[in-house]
Amino acid sequence: MHPILTHNLGFPRIGADRELKRALEAYWRGDLSKEALEDTGRTLRRRHWQQQADAGLSWIPTGDFAWYDQVLTLSATLGNVPVRHRAEARNTGAEPGSHSECGCSEPIDAPEAPEGPCRQVDLDTLFRMARGRAPTGAASSACEMTKWFDTNYHYLVPEFHPDQTFELSYRQIIDETREAIALGHQVKPVILGPLSYLWLGKEKADNFDRLSLLEALLPAYQQLLDALADAGAKWVQIDEPILVLDLPAAWQQAFEPTYHRLQNRAVKLLLATYFGALGENLSTAVQLPVAGLHIDAVRAPEQLLNVVDRLPVHKVLSVGIIDGRNIWRTDLRAARETLAELAERLGERLWLAPSCSLLHVPVDLKREQALEPELKSWLAFALQKVDEVVALEQLLAPEPAPSALAALEASDQSVRSRRESRRVHNPAVQERLSAISPTDSQRQSRFAQRSAKQQALLQLPEFPTTTIGSFPQTDDIRQARRAYKQGQLSEVEYRNRMRQAIADAIVRQEQLGLDVLVHGEAERNDMVEYFGEQLDGYAFTQFGWVQSYGSRCVKPPIIYGDVARPRAMTTQWARYAQSLSRRPVKGMLTGPITMLFWSFVRNDQPRSVTARQIALALRDEVKDLETSGIQIIQIDEPALREGLPLKRKDWGEYLDWAVEAFRLSASGVNDETQIHTHMCYSEFNDIIDAIAALDADVITIETSRSQGELLDAFEQFSYPNDIGPGVYDIHSPNVPPVEAMVTLMEQAAQRLPKERLWVNPDCGLKTRGWVETEAALANMVSAARRLRERS
Ligand code: GLN
Ligand code: ZN
Repeated sequence: MHPILTHNLGFPRIGADRELKRALEAYWRGDLSKEALEDTGRTLRRRHWQQQADAGLSWIPTGDFAWYDQVLTLSATLGNVPVRHRAEARNTGAEPGSHSECGCSEPIDAPEAPEGPCRQVDLDTLFRMARGRAPTGAASSACEMTKWFDTNYHYLVPEFHPDQTFELSYRQIIDETREAIALGHQVKPVILGPLSYLWLGKEKADNFDRLSLLEALLPAYQQLLDALADAGAKWVQIDEPILVLDLPAAWQQAFEPTYHRLQNRAVKLLLATYFGALGENLSTAVQLPVAGLHIDAVRAPEQLLNVVDRLPVHKVLSVGIIDGRNIWRTDLRAARETLAELAERLGERLWLAPSCSLLHVPVDLKREQALEPELKSWLAFALQKVDEVVALEQLLAPEPAPSALAALEASDQSVRSRRESRRVHNPAVQERLSAISPTDSQRQSRFAQRSAKQQALLQLPEFPTTTIGSFPQTDDIRQARRAYKQGQLSEVEYRNRMRQAIADAIVRQEQLGLDVLVHGEAERNDMVEYFGEQLDGYAFTQFGWVQSYGSRCVKPPIIYGDVARPRAMTTQWARYAQSLSRRPVKGMLTGPITMLFWSFVRNDQPRSVTARQIALALRDEVKDLETSGIQIIQIDEPALREGLPLKRKDWGEYLDWAVEAFRLSASGVNDETQIHTHMCYSEFNDIIDAIAALDADVITIETSRSQGELLDAFEQFSYPNDIGPGVYDIHSPNVPPVEAMVTLMEQAAQRLPKERLWVNPDCGLKTRGWVETEAALANMVSAARRLRERS
């Protein structure tokens, strides 16, 4: 039997110590030279290539390194640089709308002309596109950023114009491929395919369809493929992840002619799909004129045999068998079983790889010093996943090497220990879960009755004012939290410092005249971490960083076991805050869906079950808050929308369990207790019925950017409960004028009953300073007063 080929779809670029983050930020501040930044990049690439080669992979990826984002790199490569970010436009000073006369640093937006490709791309061009500015030079508005499929990674959205042309304009991917080959590596460059590239971008002019740019785009891809062949690549991995989405017919039909055009004598193409099943696009994908197809066998194991049956006999099938999206160790025995049959049928046409790029997992588990050894034995980060790919290949050999057998043994051991561990399985939690009844997720009465009882108690004015929860996290607050964590501040001292911050926030809110107060969340570093640290079943890593965007990384907690709440989590702070004021102070919790999606989740039970466990833990907290005299409790669910599955047919099922989990957490209280929820990243039109089904008494929403659209959804649905459409954007330090907020609310009052409206900013204020916060809230309170006078 021939050896099976192993490869990787991409490696995390940020570095085990977040070296790239540090270097980038230093460069942007002007503290690091371009040469030193480039040096850091080179060192990281070399290290990662070497590590993957040492592990024994047949092919290692190039083109996966990026200074900010791989989609951005591709835009530059294709010469697709918005006019406002081009060096040419800057150097000539000819940019229309330039502020050169006044010298102010307001963003400048040059009108976008139909453009030819940009010919002068360098590192700073990338940073202007990504951040609106390079270390030096004028500011312009950055490209939009959005989520990469259903991950927490954000890419820079390509901008498209009707008569645009493309041309190979930036050679980073090619140069890095040469660089790796010169170091003696066997490489396979990775690029995003033309249809996914167009799909993920946005039209910047009316009345045109970006798919019409395909003709213009393909020659640039052809140039790029030729250049990669020229650099020495034999195979190129071309990613078309949109093949796992529901595609309009025109897009689906575009694949076949596109890949005919890209057939290239010099390089073979491996067409990569991931994050789900090919579904309706399966026949399209298997028939494309490419040399190989990669599929995700972790998210969609059910498609494996179907694909094998329909794959033409000359094609390679790369099976993504190691989970690139999660941190669990692979069950090598089960994986070997799945693959053995395929290996027999496909012979050397079978390749092995992780399911998707390893960009979405941390770099190296070995770095972790503080994890429980048992828990640690269940995990695998990027480097360990590469080892797993190689071990599987060896295990498929007729006589596996001793090291492979040892890996199998260790994997068996880990599977057993995880299946049986008391850390994972908590009988009390499971008992409680099986005792849940339908009434547990229902409030005692309908909204109309609850609302009357709440109002009788709370006596709030029309257009009540409130904030979303967090107040500025001052240096003092951060320093106290850090010192406490490091053991330099005693429990008592820490509590005093936090109490001071709470008292300060309460005084300021009373002076501002807000109607419903918050304690300010000073004790929280992060809205998920704070609760995860207090719940059983959650673990935290020291170095488990994953790139979110650019230099920004997140360190998601790991949900590994049944979730339970050993003791109350927020009541002491809430009670203290409430003791300082006669006005109601909201209790503040993070909801079950957000607790789930902003973590690495269990793969040994459905997410719906984990969500329900978290919901029960929160339900106890909600009740404890009520018993502590808290009359209003907010359960934040900013992640509800981002949890939506990639295919529409799966939405209903997800929304059912997600809504149920929220309701389970919220419904244990009396009618008199008012439940709020908060959501950001609005775009609710298509899930408005699910939002209404949450049955929160009040929902506050981020709307400052698309007020009209959002209210449309609520109006058309005749949304029944109270709403606080955010009246100003907290992402900007600008102080919103009173009249602007009055106007927004008056528009809202034309579409929704004014008795149902609240006045609030659009999200938490933790990233702001106090000066602008107080000024903005003073205006907001004035706006509410004016509304009351006029109504
Ligand atoms: N209560 C949180 C805060 O104010 C909500 C944050 C969020 O919506 N992302 O910070
Ligand atoms: Zn928010």
